[in-house]
Amino acid sequence: MTIAVIGAGASGMAAALQAAWHGAAVTLFERNASVGRKLLVTGSGRCNITNAAVDPVKYACADQAWMETLISRFGVVDLVDMLSSIGIPVYKTPDGWYYPLSNSAQSVVEAFACALDLEGVTIITQAQVNAIRVSGTGIAIHFSLNGKIQEREFERVIVSAGGTAYPSLGSRGDLFPILEGLGHTVLPNRPALAPLLVELGDLRLLQGVRLDVGATLWNGKKPLASTQGNLIFTEWGLNGPAVMDLSHLVSRYDAPDLKLSLNLLACFQDEFDRLLADKRKTNIPLRVFLDAFFPPKVAANLLGNRSLEEGTPLCQVEDRSLNTLIDYLRDIRLPVKGVRGFEYCQVSAGGVPVGEVEPGTMESRIVKGLYLTGETLDVVGPCGGFNLQYAFSSGALAGKAVSI
Ligand SMILES: Cc1cc2nc3c(=O)[nH]c(=O)nc-3n(C[C@H](O)[C@H](O)[C@H](O)COP(=O)(O)OP(=O)(O)OC[C@H]3O[C@@H](n4cnc5c(N)ncnc54)[C@H](O)[C@@H]3O)c2cc1C
Repeated sequence: MTIAVIGAGASGMAAALQAAWHGAAVTLFERNASVGRKLLVTGSGRCNITNAAVDPVKYACADQAWMETLISRFGVVDLVDMLSSIGIPVYKTPDGWYYPLSNSAQSVVEAFACALDLEGVTIITQAQVNAIRVSGTGIAIHFSLNGKIQEREFERVIVSAGGTAYPSLGSRGDLFPILEGLGHTVLPNRPALAPLLVELGDLRLLQGVRLDVGATLWNGKKPLASTQGNLIFTEWGLNGPAVMDLSHLVSRYDAPDLKLSLNLLACFQDEFDRLLADKRKTNIPLRVFLDAFFPPKVAANLLGNRSLEEGTPLCQVEDRSLNTLIDYLRDIRLPVKGVRGFEYCQVSAGGVPVGEVEPGTMESRIVKGLYLTGETLDVVGPCGGFNLQYAFSSGALAGKAVSI
């Protein structure tokens, strides 16, 4: 069986390796000068490979059952086994995030490159695929290499060309029009796992501060989704997992009345209530009480925003003022103006709808012999290794299926 894989990202490398392990003659085409370019920058260079909490319900995917099939056929344990077999042992943090033992994305890329080489996969780098043509005998790939257009025919082709996130790393969505030409639908690409453009108002002075919070995105009076996690205040808004996990909804709704509600107490509400009950009747200054939960700069800013004196003893604060402060800390509403662009997002939403691909094999339901994997399809997971798990899973399933 002759197989072409287009794109040597996480998904394409998993596909090529599995196909080779299952006896296929594999050629891997990559536009960049080397394989795994985007993988190198994942997890800030540490490569957050997967997550103990991987579950189909965590993914923004139009068909839950589709995702269930995919993850049940190649889940966390299968990925960990596959990585181990190419010499990448992993470890899990207390909150369930998996990393290579080396803490180095480069070691993951090198292990894949080595395994692909040992399995005899032909890797053609600096090869940009420009066309895919179905013929009577197979599927022809047109690609430019060293300024020359070439054509090669394969029995089956796996498209693992990513989406449009971080285009400088290679994925620019240039195969989407070609997939449309072959009969596939392509949903408009949108930034996901992106920083949010938010009007911070009085909180703009908190630039550079990191907090663990609860965050809820509202469209008018309708809550769209909630998250809990870390966020960072920046000059243009908010960054970090708590808001990035909501960004695919911001880019989808693109509505004028989107608001973000921050609950600053969400991660320690019980401790807050306990300490307040303990200290309510004491002379401890308000600011010192809040310092138990927030950096001093934050506590001062929050009290200033409510026109409360930092030094007022807790026992002298009126119930009404205290309740207003607590309500504020639980629900700070900020207007959302949009998301930062594709250059700043970790994945893109949109692309080919999952319904056009078999979830167990990733074969196109429209073009026989064509397989689609990874970010080329309309699937977005939250921060924490969910997207690499999906990219590896879909690639591995295609690689296994293609050789049968
Ligand atoms: C900064 C950053 C950090 C991230 N960190 C994490 C993390 O820690 N954990 C996590 O789970 N996810 C993370 N992600 C997301 C993760 O990287 C993606 O989900 C994953 O890389 C998608 O894999 P893919 O193989 O589908 O696409 P890609 O990795 O984009 O690979 C596609 C490949 O196809 C090639 N290609 C595209 N078009 C053509 C063409 N026409 N001809 C030839 N080659 C082509 C591209 O050059 C590219 O190498 C991060 C993303 C970014 C940008």
